Amino acid sequence: GTNEISVNTAIQFRGAQQICSHGELLSGARVLLTGASAGIGEQLAYRYAAYGAQMVLTARREAALREVMEKCLTLGAKKVFYLPADMSSPSEPDRVVQFAVQKLGGLDYLVLNHIGTSPFEMWGGDVEHSRWLMQVNFFSYVALASAALPALERNQGSVVVVSSLSGKIPTPFTTSYSATKFALDGFFGSLRHELMMQRKNVSITLCVLGLIDTDTALEKTRGRVFLSASPASDAALSIIRGGCSRVPELFYPWWLRHVHGLWVLLPNPRVLQSFYNYSSH
Ligand code: NDP
Repeated sequence: GTNEISVNTAIQFRGAQQICSHGELLSGARVLLTGASAGIGEQLAYRYAAYGAQMVLTARREAALREVMEKCLTLGAKKVFYLPADMSSPSEPDRVVQFAVQKLGGLDYLVLNHIGTSPFEMWGGDVEHSRWLMQVNFFSYVALASAALPALERNQGSVVVVSSLSGKIPTPFTTSYSATKFALDGFFGSLRHELMMQRKNVSITLCVLGLIDTDTALEKTRGRVFLSASPASDAALSIIRGGCSRVPELFYPWWLRHVHGLWVLLPNPRVLQSFYNYSSH
């Protein structure tokens, strides 16, 4: 029954956390990582490498991927491959997963992290961009996870989905981006239920991040928000630990959990808006 499932989950969770703190689970783990050429994805690659993981890295830019791969090898990664792919193309997710399963001989972690470029500005009516962004940030995640599920099931693996506070609380200047991140919560939250109901031991971890100091995020938000950015390398460590511990949801920085909880209890838009620099004159 339901109790049995939750007790099993609690035991698995505790067990995973203990082993995880020694990094043993990650040594030799087979990881497919998207958005690995820059930002948080690049830091994730270096962190997994230091744990001795085996990886397939993907993003669009081949030269950048090659550089990340080389650094991963010096940091201790057992094996690293890369495959350039543009996730706005609906046929790429299948190809990338097939490549990873073949090169690594299976899969333990699918880490979904890439995002398409989106503006940090008021909604201007560009519906076509929303549709495109939904493909890159949402549908490709659905397709990658679907293609990887059989391999993950065989190894009691994990799906790690990188999201944002904007995927939990609506924030200004992020209309389409926020929509794609809310969609991920809905899809992967529902899928998590179904996997448990079917007693399939594949964990899904949704990572809710605040502002992180990646080049793209800093450039977009400079002078526009009253928020300080947290380091990408710490965000990456928190994501990896959360995935390894099989927690359903993690917040980074940790206090974001309380920001979210407060919003659920008292959704005051003025308080939220006070963190954004905007004058209508
Ligand atoms: P970056 O812009 O630094 O990196 C994005 C990555 O995605 C790059 O590797 C890029 O590589 C790749 N990418 C871009 N377009 C495509 C495409 N069409 N197909 C495939 N890959 C693509 O992003 P961040 O590191 O800042 O963000 C990473 C994750 O963290 C995202 O899910 C984001 O929503 C989340 N997050 C980030 C926050 C922040 O403040 N930075 C805050 C909250 C959440 P290439 O150009 O080579 O394709």
